[in-house]
Amino acid sequence: MLERLKDLEAQSRKLDPGAGERAPLWEAARQYGEGFLQALPESPAFVLKDRPGAGLAGFPIPEAERPFSQVLEALAEHVDGVGANGASGRHLAFIPPSSLFAGALGDLLAAITNRYAAYFFAGPGAVRMENQVISWLAREVGLPEGSSGNLAAGGSMAHLVGVCTAREAAGLKAADYPRACVYLSDQAHHCIVKALRVAGMDEAPVRSIPTDADFRLRPEALEAAIQEDLRAGLRPWLLVPTAGTTNTGAVDPLEACADLAQRHGLWMHTDGAYGASFALAESGRTALRGLERSDSLVLDPHKGLFTPLGLGVVLVRHLDPLRKAHAFRADYLPSPPEDLEELSPSETTLEFSKHARALRLWLPLQLHGAAAFRAALDEKLLLARYAHARLREMPGVDPGPEPQLSVLAFRFLPSAGEADAFNQALLQQLTAEGRIFLSGTRLNGAFYLRMAILAARTHREQVDEALERLQTAAAELA
Ligand SMILES: *Cc1c(COP(=O)(O)O)cnc(C)c1O
Repeated sequence: MLERLKDLEAQSRKLDPGAGERAPLWEAARQYGEGFLQALPESPAFVLKDRPGAGLAGFPIPEAERPFSQVLEALAEHVDGVGANGASGRHLAFIPPSSLFAGALGDLLAAITNRYAAYFFAGPGAVRMENQVISWLAREVGLPEGSSGNLAAGGSMAHLVGVCTAREAAGLKAADYPRACVYLSDQAHHCIVKALRVAGMDEAPVRSIPTDADFRLRPEALEAAIQEDLRAGLRPWLLVPTAGTTNTGAVDPLEACADLAQRHGLWMHTDGAYGASFALAESGRTALRGLERSDSLVLDPHKGLFTPLGLGVVLVRHLDPLRKAHAFRADYLPSPPEDLEELSPSETTLEFSKHARALRLWLPLQLHGAAAFRAALDEKLLLARYAHARLREMPGVDPGPEPQLSVLAFRFLPSAGEADAFNQALLQQLTAEGRIFLSGTRLNGAFYLRMAILAARTHREQVDEALERLQTAAAELA
């Protein structure tokens, strides 16, 4: 047995390289990361390939070790060399991600030290850090002192926590679901209905409320829908306005929504996954008026606060239902968390073995200060207005709605042929080129190009280049 243990130990010790063996690994990883960052100003925003990344299959998980250089080559080719570049300032599609360098350092340090962030007893500092970030964000969006929440892996997960909390607050049981009405606009993100389904609430009637010419939920239509449901003996339960839609960045009338929610006893859970971060910016606060009246809301730091992908926050005004919906006790756990001075994140989400996710936001905030984030967000808002002004001046362009936040939806109006086909061909052409990455959508049935300005590395230069490339490509195509 001892011989066998000795043998196994010799093998398993390979998993834990010593300082001398780590040194070249650090250096190679640093070079890889630094090379990637230095190439960013010129590297493509999108790489279109046949069967992208399929070469990874030729690089299977080995039994024996492989040299790091080979592994990094495979990473560069099959993963970092295909599809969308999530660090590029010319990523203007969907809602662009960023990946701040300090955020990546936060992840690296969190993984090395591996502090546990779900239970106060084991990870008191990591738990305090998560709570500090939550309190700070709650204050920034105008929620009252004592609000709480959870740092989830993304907006969709954060919405699931919000939906379960709202269900708890209303005391809904399965038999109530077919009567528990949900209201959102026809522009709402699909992840709300997905969260309802995953929460087992597929039977809850979902009312898609029509929007106005600016794609904002129409309060009078909402009121009418609530009244109709009340007359039918149903139970209006949850209102999910959007603070910044994915399509056009439209902000629903949050004050009017909050008034209606209050009057009819609905829980207002605001989807600010994309837009709520703009509450940090002076010019964003006006557009978001009423956000602070939400019972709960979702804000994605991996969008509007530029962290690496994997951070969506749910903020909740009322701790009680949040905790009731998620807290559990078990014999193998230390003293009940309610005895402790800090709320444990395991009490406010499904996750249990949770890493120090806060570090990816806390570290950039500490290193750069909040003011730099406010400025960056003001910059993106102003860039959107600048781009819209330039689109308005372009002949043969329908500049689309005035941006409410930082998303533009516009289209070229060709002198001959169908506009939809022309703009789709234009988008395909630009994606194949890969220099700028845009996406498309449909507004009132017509195909529009979308330019979303949110990546940390998107500045005036990138917007100008995108507009020029669009004009040139449109002229070539015409
Ligand atoms: C991105 C987004 C979501 C979903 O969040 P994920 O972080 O992608 O899970 C929900 N709503 C809106 C408005 C979004 O932009």
